[in-house]
Amino acid sequence: MKQTKMRVVQCWDDGHENDIPLCDVLRRHGAKASFNLNASNMEQPGKALPKKPDVFDGFTVANHSLTHPHLEQMTIEAARADIIDGRKRLQDRFGTPVLGFAYPFGTYSPAVMELLREAGHVYARTTVNVEQCFPPQDAMAFHPNCHFLAPDFWERYERARACGVFYFWGHSYEIRTPEMWEAFDAQIARITADPAAEWVELLDLF
Ligand SMILES: [Zn+2]
Repeated sequence: MKQTKMRVVQCWDDGHENDIPLCDVLRRHGAKASFNLNASNMEQPGKALPKKPDVFDGFTVANHSLTHPHLEQMTIEAARADIIDGRKRLQDRFGTPVLGFAYPFGTYSPAVMELLREAGHVYARTTVNVEQCFPPQDAMAFHPNCHFLAPDFWERYERARACGVFYFWGHSYEIRTPEMWEAFDAQIARITADPAAEWVELLDLF
């Protein structure tokens, strides 16, 4: 009998030095992930990239805009430039196509969705938590199932089996204590150990 596994995807926003230990946890458990980066923020202290340019090796880099503005409050021209420049700088830096996007602050508008499509993004993630994340009605408003610290994370995980995809997100800087790192390690290990689930790349969903 052919068994269909639930596909599990995750992504992490903003780029932070905590991405370094987070990537170590993910590698140890064979997990896949995308990192949504703001190219202009990567030069600032506390950001991971200047110190360890290889920190995201083996993972996918996606666009989180150049400067992390409220895109829907900008002029179309300014929003377009922030989106396109952010994507271009990431592509130049990592030498790989950047096809995913995550909305800064989770906010967006129909005009911004159109800009992202024009700029060549395949999907854009919101911060709206839904029960059934896939397939999204519109790939430029791709709603995840939940934040990684959601109190009902595992209930949502179980219910997501019905639709076959579970998508969670967060910021590595939200993991602040040794106990939280232990809990995160166990969370990732539990998904890896689930015989009815498999880690996949976000882009492979599309
Ligand atoms: Zn952000």
